[in-house]
Amino acid sequence: MIIIIGAGLSGLLTAYRLKNEGIPFKILEARSRIGGRIHTVFGEENTPVEMGATWFQNQHTQLIALLEELGINYFEQFIEGSVFYQPSANAPAQSIQIPKQDPSYRISGGSSHLINALYEKLDPDDVLFDQTVTEIKFHENSVQVIAKDVFAGDKIILAIPPKLWSKRILFEPHLPNDLMQMATQTHTWMEDSIKIAVTYAQPFWLPKHQSGALFSNAGPITELYDHCNQERSKYALCGFINASFQNLNDEKRRTSVLRQLTSVFGEQAGDFIDYKECVWSREINTFEYSHNELYPHQNNGNPIFRHSFFEGKLLISSSESASEYPGYMEGAVYAGNITAEKIIAGKKVQ
Ligand SMILES: Cc1cc2nc3c(=O)[nH]c(=O)nc-3n(C[C@H](O)[C@H](O)[C@H](O)COP(=O)(O)OP(=O)(O)OC[C@H]3O[C@@H](n4cnc5c(N)ncnc54)[C@H](O)[C@@H]3O)c2cc1C
Repeated sequence: MIIIIGAGLSGLLTAYRLKNEGIPFKILEARSRIGGRIHTVFGEENTPVEMGATWFQNQHTQLIALLEELGINYFEQFIEGSVFYQPSANAPAQSIQIPKQDPSYRISGGSSHLINALYEKLDPDDVLFDQTVTEIKFHENSVQVIAKDVFAGDKIILAIPPKLWSKRILFEPHLPNDLMQMATQTHTWMEDSIKIAVTYAQPFWLPKHQSGALFSNAGPITELYDHCNQERSKYALCGFINASFQNLNDEKRRTSVLRQLTSVFGEQAGDFIDYKECVWSREINTFEYSHNELYPHQNNGNPIFRHSFFEGKLLISSSESASEYPGYMEGAVYAGNITAEKIIAGKKVQ
């Protein structure tokens, strides 16, 4: 029995690959939902908006291959027309044209479509929810995992960001010092970002030949994009706000976002259907405080994460462990695939 800790993209993908090989496993998930940092939510008009991972590019070949394998479509991020740019808090927003960029893509139906498709390939009792793993004990021929319940397996896969397991899970015997030190100093991509999405009855920006995009040094919004669905029948704007706004209460944060939107896009931006946000630093199953500031992607993809420990009983996964595009969905797919390959290859040798 393989115990996978974490039902994010990396853990679910490994599970799907193991399932295809008939290798028994269980996923233990702390939250009461799947997906981890991939989280599509639906507003009142059923408009899918992304609170987590959203975009990918042509170079993300393993993610694209997985979408094709699962029969999931994707589409280009809309960015036609003018873009607003706010150089500073004291300067008015300028309407500018930007040269055509390499395309970014979004997953049809929302990023959680990928997560749900993987989950549907599993049996419902393959994933156990509300099981926050707090302790892992390695014995000579087995591993004991302590969460809300106690589980026993042959091997463990840590499909959660290294900083999180290094601070939250007690290992017996202790993990090697160099591994622990590296894990505590490994940045978890986007762990403290704030995502906002505003849905509208009409895409008021399109008749004005605006793309819906805003890049701002004034804040709170730093980056914003058109977030209509692929069919362009549901309308939204979605992006990031400055992480320092986590200190405001929800109402004040929302008011300051809407004030900026109306000052840039005009009064119509205030006439919205739904406002959604996710302050990721409040997500205890993603964010972990660091004593010293880590720079973005620090130690992501470090080769130590590709070793196995305790005679192969412990494997490390999650996007941050990947040697290619760590931190991104592509990294999670890479890690999920390679971890499954290791287990499957080990089984064939036996
Ligand atoms: C706001 C935001 C925006 C992003 N934007 C993009 C983007 O546009 N493009 C892109 O490519 N990537 C983006 N990313 C990154 C992308 O989401 C991640 O790379 C990817 O989803 C990571 O998957 P994972 O399985 O490695 O980890 P996670 O998604 O973090 O999954 C880990 C799982 O483990 C669970 N867990 C944690 N602790 C425990 C425990 N003790 N016991 C049991 N379960 C536990 C968690 O609940 C979670 O479900 C973004 C991330 C965020 C937060």
